[in-house]
Amino acid sequence: MSSSASNESLRAPASRCLLCNVGCPVRVMRAGPDQWLPDYVPHAGYAGLCGRGSVLVELADHPDRLRGAHRHGGGGREVLDLRAVAAEAAEALRGADSAAVIVDGNYDVDTLAAVGAFAKSLGATWAVSLPPSDEALVRGLDSSGCRFVGPEALEQADAMLVIGDVFATHPVAAHWILEAKARQPRMPVLVLAASAGVTADFASASFQAVPGAGLAAAVAAVRTGNVSALGPRAKGLAGWKDLLKGAKQPAIVLAADAGRASVLALAAEVAHLAKELQAAVCPLTTYGNAWGAMRAAAAGGAAAAGGAAGVEDILRDPPEALLVIGADVESALAPQAVASALDGVLTLVYVGPMPNRTSRRAGLVFPAAFAFEQSGRALLGPARETAFEPLLAPPAGVPSVREILALAGGGAVKANLTSPVAAATARANGEPKGEGLLLVLANDPVHFADGSLTREARWPQTVIPRPVLLLAEEDAEAAGVADGRRAVLQGPGGRAEVVVATDAAQARGQARASAAFPAVRDVFGWKLGGPDAFEPVRVRVGKA
Ligand code: SF4
Repeated sequence: MSSSASNESLRAPASRCLLCNVGCPVRVMRAGPDQWLPDYVPHAGYAGLCGRGSVLVELADHPDRLRGAHRHGGGGREVLDLRAVAAEAAEALRGADSAAVIVDGNYDVDTLAAVGAFAKSLGATWAVSLPPSDEALVRGLDSSGCRFVGPEALEQADAMLVIGDVFATHPVAAHWILEAKARQPRMPVLVLAASAGVTADFASASFQAVPGAGLAAAVAAVRTGNVSALGPRAKGLAGWKDLLKGAKQPAIVLAADAGRASVLALAAEVAHLAKELQAAVCPLTTYGNAWGAMRAAAAGGAAAAGGAAGVEDILRDPPEALLVIGADVESALAPQAVASALDGVLTLVYVGPMPNRTSRRAGLVFPAAFAFEQSGRALLGPARETAFEPLLAPPAGVPSVREILALAGGGAVKANLTSPVAAATARANGEPKGEGLLLVLANDPVHFADGSLTREARWPQTVIPRPVLLLAEEDAEAAGVADGRRAVLQGPGGRAEVVVATDAAQARGQARASAAFPAVRDVFGWKLGGPDAFEPVRVRVGKA
């Protein structure tokens, strides 16, 4: 595919799946009188939808969707007039001693900017909700001066360093890596990942790094050729810088799903290496619009310049009144830590398409369209701005977030996306001390982010109904648990029941657990304002 083809793809008017930043064009096909199926748009090299993209239509038509504004409490659910209740919510926020707004980062950038302006008009602070790893990736790379490309350009690369299990986290991006490999079967591909996933199967060489700080250390070893700190397994990394440098179009693909400090350290190392190699960098985020959300938040004066750090800033000293738009704030970080913060909020208003933990504790609840039920703009990565059209119309009477803001007195705003997000750096922590397996969160091709949307859909419920714990066969045997059986994971923050999946290629002493389940996130013992969101921890595994 030529670069003009990839530009054509970004300009093409289509709906976009934003359940990762590949941003696959998507449309619906009629499968019956009142039945729709999602389908990819066959152009510019896009190869299909992954499992996540396939649930969009089911969410649109989900039986539990919020369809009317209602008030919790008082023993009943009275459906309210939207205009009146929007004015009431705005008044509650304006009249509170302290007020804040948290909005999901996957809404289109102009909606995010309008939310920011609305919050400011009420005297409220605001933040966009994003996975901490996305926030760190954008903060670590946006101002780095690297040359960025989208996954569509990977087919043109003639040597690749792939960081992360891209096949699991961004399946359609992996397709372009395979296309490049098919075009040039001898193309060198090095995979560095904290887990030996399918991505490693199509590598010329792979290295299973220690989760957390180990990935940044592995990239540094490639750059310097000094592999001694990584042990004998890393010997093969020493010659890779020359292999990559000898290519005409080397590319570094980076999918990061580890903790915040680790991702910041990894991004700094990747930027360093990319500049020395003059390689293009293809950053892959969990939220399709992570880049747009971070830039819109920074330009709009959001708390901590946006991202999960801004959400933490708001929740650390809970406001008297809080408006949450689209995000399941309680589920997205760690429910135990966030629930007690939300207990301190006197007036909680929720706006969104689906019920969730946060909406269930809100006093006022508004239905709203999904981001994919309206037109808008997203920034899929640096220089990857794309306009998208609605996939389907929202149900009758369900307004968009922008329409709700207008009812509450807000106005339209065009987001300023021109300035890169200011750089942040961090040193990755060393391995946590203590006994037990080293645990990291793992994204998968079935559930999206915190799972609060995909856990409601039938297909993800069927395929991954419970959190999966991936570990080495020897570690499973030592813990007395078996492949496919239930087990209990015990960490610094508590315990979670998981289903064991053993893998002969998984490094001993390391484990990965599904990120999309709140109980798993609680295991990490994450605390509001703690320095290292979702860094690896030591856990014990036992029989359920
Ligand atoms: S690869 Fe990403 S954008 Fe494409 S369908 Fe899957 S989740 Fe959606």
